[in-house]
Parts: sequence; structure tokens; C-alpha cells
Amino acid sequence: MAIEFSAAVSRIPVYPAAAAYALPEDVALLASNESPEPPLEPVVAAVQAILTGVNRYPDPTNAKLRGALSDRYEVPASRIAIGNGSCDILLAAGEALLEPGAELVYAWPSFSVYPHLAAATGATQVQVALNEAQEHDLDAMLKEITAATRLAIVCNPNNPTSTAIPLADITRFVEQVPKQVCVILDEAYCEYNTLEDPDASIDLLKKHPNLVLLRTFSKVYGLCGLRVGYALCGSDAFVTAVNQVRQPFFCNAAAQAAAVESLKHGDAVQARVERAIVARLELEDGLGELGISAAASQANFAWFDLPAREGEEPGEAEKRIVAGLTEKGVLVRSGAALGRPGALRVTYGTPEQNARFLGVLRELL
Ligand SMILES: *Cc1c(COP(=O)(O)O)cnc(C)c1O
Repeated sequence: MAIEFSAAVSRIPVYPAAAAYALPEDVALLASNESPEPPLEPVVAAVQAILTGVNRYPDPTNAKLRGALSDRYEVPASRIAIGNGSCDILLAAGEALLEPGAELVYAWPSFSVYPHLAAATGATQVQVALNEAQEHDLDAMLKEITAATRLAIVCNPNNPTSTAIPLADITRFVEQVPKQVCVILDEAYCEYNTLEDPDASIDLLKKHPNLVLLRTFSKVYGLCGLRVGYALCGSDAFVTAVNQVRQPFFCNAAAQAAAVESLKHGDAVQARVERAIVARLELEDGLGELGISAAASQANFAWFDLPAREGEEPGEAEKRIVAGLTEKGVLVRSGAALGRPGALRVTYGTPEQNARFLGVLRELL
């Protein structure tokens, strides 16, 4: 007899891991929106220093990290949640807010983890199509909010489309969502957004106890291998609830130490953002020379439709090009897996990696 699993297990999609982990060293990893730069040296030193003490459990209250985030963002520590990556907070929010009969609203295509929330909890999900510009259609999302809605998620800038919507639009959206509905604004890429000061959305927390700003050390801080994310919240209640549904030690000691140290190096982080923006411009130019127009990226990756050859379906062109890139050691994310066959999502790498990607793509078109 085989083991009998819960219904949730048959509903939850299996995460499509990038096919990178058994490949040779010089592969250009442009599939997972990671930073191409290693963690900052003092951050590595802080992690090394903590390792001699790992016979002890990590601080379950994450006091130093919440204190440092509180100082940096002027949000009370009691309104800051920490997680084993921000995905951990997202999944915990699903567990804390959702159940059969409850509803969840989010845009699609968007972050691949959102469908897990409904699948894991048995709640009903409403996926609202992006508009023509591949941006969130907030008015359409508002129309889907009912008495059963517990959670609305807005990803800004959006993964996988890279586009951002103005904070003014988000403000109007949050003002119209009923106060008992939690709104998670997933800001994993906010540091790369040149349209808006990444700190600007924080003001919204003062007026909206139902708002949660979800952020991460995975992307611009280059710490995705350690797993640490955080949420700045409009009320303590969200923090208490997500902590209730998780194991007490959800953030390990090395991750906490690395995050605390990272917050001391704002200038180095800003320099990374600037390098990513140079890469954005270079990649957009290079794609433009190939006749490809990428979505207006405010993130650390490009999103675009591939030109198909005559008689070729968009999905076929994508398969051929992804296979060709992989063969040449350039890993990117296929659009089909992200809800748009014929598209590609390509993370900005080092200047060499970006040039390599463009060179191989040119050969394949
Ligand atoms: C990368 C990403 C995250 C961050 O995930 P972590 O668990 O913090 O590594 C969250 N949301 C979106 C939309 C992302 O792309």
C-alpha cells in the first residue's frame, strides 16, 4: 500500500526548479532573479562569526533584526514579521487567513508561489488577468473582492512581467479594499524601481492596518541562499497570526546575522542597484537591436515575447530558444512555465553574462 496523503498535496503545484544545479561552473544563471554579485564581505564575516554559536537555537523573536529594520524604516518592531525567506511569510499568511469558503484575489501572470496559498488551504482563488501593458488591473481586482475575500495580493514590480504600477494607483486600491481584507503588497523588487522611492509605500501603513509590505533580503542584498525576508505591517495582528501558524525557529541564526549586517551597508546596496540599472539599459538596447521590445522593467530582470520563425507557434519558438540557450550554458526562465508561452524572463547578470546571453540569442533567432 502506498502512503495516503491529504487532498492539499494533490492540489499544490510542484515548484519548477531551474535546471541549473548539476551543470558546469561557467553557466550563466539568469533564471531565478538572483544577484550576480556575491554577498558583501562584512556580511560573510558576520555569518562566519555566528557559526561557532550554532549549538544554540536562533533568537525566535528575531529581536536584533526587527530592531534594525524598525530603525531603518520607522515601523514599530511589533509590526515587523520575519520569515525563512519572504515566501515563508506568504505561505504562513495563507494559512492564517484562508480556509475552504474563503477567497483570495491576485493578478496573473504573477509570482508562481501565489497559487500555493489556495491549494494548501482549500480556499478559492480568483486570478485577475493583467492588462495589455502586462500590468495589474487594479480596478478589475477590486471588482472581484466579495464578502468572502480574506486576502488580495499585489506584486509591484510584478514578477514575471517586470512592470511596476504607480504608488498613487496602489494607494487608491488600498483605500477601496474593505478593512477586514488583508492586502499584501509584494515588494521583492522595490529597490530596483526607479519610478518610486522604495520607502514611499511605508507611509500607507499608518492609515491601513490591513496592509502588509512584503520584502526580502534575497534579491538586492544577494542572500537568497540563506533565506530571510520580512514584512512591514499596518498592525501587530498580522505578525502574531503568521507566528502562530509556524514553527518557532523560522529564521536561522546565520540568516538573522547576515540581514542585520546587510542593513549597515546601504551605500553598497545602492551601488548594486545602480549596476543593475546599467544592465537593464544594456540588455534593453541589445534586445532592441534584435527587434525585441522588452516590457518596461522596474526590476532586475527582463520580460519579452520572442519572435517566432515562419510557421512556428510562439510556444515552439520558446522551447527551441530555451533549449538552445541551455545548450550554450545560459539558463533563463521559460514563459510557458510562468503563464505566457512564447515569452522569456531573463535576470540581469554580470556584463559578461548579459553579453553572452545576447550573443547566443542572436544566433538562435
Ligand atoms: C523572489 C521573490 C520573492 C522572494 O522570495 P524569498 O522567499 O524571500 O527568497 C518574493 N516575491 C516575489 C514576487 C519574488 O519574485
